[in-house]
Amino acid sequence: MVKSRLPFFLTTAAFAAALSLFALFSSGRARWIALSVSLLVIGFILGLLWRRQPSRLDSRISDDKVAPPPDFSPELLATTINEMREGLLVIDADMRVLASNRVAQHLLSNVEPSITSRRLTELTRNPAIYDAFLDGVRGTERAGVKVETFGPDRRVFDLRVVPLRAQGVVSGAVGVFFDVTRLERLEIIRQEFLSNVSHELRTPLTSIVALSETLEFGAIDDPENNRRFLSIIQKNATRMHRLIDDILELSAIEAGNVKIRPELVRLRPLVEDILGTLAATATARNVSIRNLVPAEAEVFADPHRLMQMLTNLIDNAVKFNRDGGTVSIGFSRSDRDQISVEDTGEGIPSHHLDRLFERFYRVDRARSRDLGGTGLGLAIVKHLAKSHGGEVSVASRFGEGTKFKIELPRPTGARDNREFSAAVHA
Ligand code: ADP
Repeated sequence: MVKSRLPFFLTTAAFAAALSLFALFSSGRARWIALSVSLLVIGFILGLLWRRQPSRLDSRISDDKVAPPPDFSPELLATTINEMREGLLVIDADMRVLASNRVAQHLLSNVEPSITSRRLTELTRNPAIYDAFLDGVRGTERAGVKVETFGPDRRVFDLRVVPLRAQGVVSGAVGVFFDVTRLERLEIIRQEFLSNVSHELRTPLTSIVALSETLEFGAIDDPENNRRFLSIIQKNATRMHRLIDDILELSAIEAGNVKIRPELVRLRPLVEDILGTLAATATARNVSIRNLVPAEAEVFADPHRLMQMLTNLIDNAVKFNRDGGTVSIGFSRSDRDQISVEDTGEGIPSHHLDRLFERFYRVDRARSRDLGGTGLGLAIVKHLAKSHGGEVSVASRFGEGTKFKIELPRPTGARDNREFSAAVHA
């Protein structure tokens, strides 16, 4: 571009030089006019030259443009394909393997180092895979084929096969196996959750509908039963309310909408506050509660969420206790802070312990309902403990009592001002 304008610049420069010479040898007004015009022309040329200077960015861009394309060698291609999370399998028209990546090899053969040139029938007995590839080499695309592996590491894949066409002729098929194991597990959890929620809501609702109909059809004038029916209706409505609150709370935690703002919290006064709110229930059940937390104990937690976790555990320890029993809240410190809630209640049979923190899991469903439970309390505690970077565990002896323990990490300098999102995987 600059080159093509060279004659223009030369001519203009010559003109400016001529004017300068003329100014040198002339006198009076003409001299000044010539000098001014020549200066203007020189300024104009300098201005144009300045604008033509490429900026650093321009030159970098132009350098990039001329840079040679990256060397995408067959080795690089093989690495890329092997690192894919999806399985990739290419077969020829005779159903022999032309190419595959690591995931596909692992899926079809755990033992052989290479499956190239092997017939698909030698590698799998799974009719879903075979049929999908057969359709592929016959020119039909297949999608959404479910492929499952069995054994301890059960996996589920979603297979898509498309015909390989060269100049209009089908010369094989390429299949991609998408690993949907986690998605499927989440879908099962979601369906179970929905069915549990419907079931939990249906029971009190049925009772409310039945009793209000009974009242409507005459029982309202029955002085012996009308108040009793009303109070059952109220109890069931309260239960539904509590259930919906817990469901919303759990969903918010799981969706990461609950922010955990940990700070140093003095534990003893916090436990004292909780005992104040539970005192009436404990007295009614003849259960005594002991706050054994040392006065100086501090933990690093979100105070509101810590209160929620401990209220749940202490409330359970009171509810599932026996007449005249005790509940003790303790604190100890090792590499993590440990808060324990121990009761002298009925205990939990060992085969229930593994599933105790699952949503809606209850040792005695009817008893839990009678006590106004939703079956979500421990699931909420588990999620909140995890979102603090800690965990909750349980130990129990059937007939002797139960001990829940919340472990929380100690603060480090870097963590002190940190805010955690409460989202954790189920
Ligand atoms: P719920 O609303 O039923 O209390 P939770 O999730 O809090 O739901 O508890 C689940 C179940 O765990 C309870 O129904 C009960 O069977 C059992 N459980 C919890 N805490 C105790 C405890 N301290 N002693 C005995 N069983 C307990």
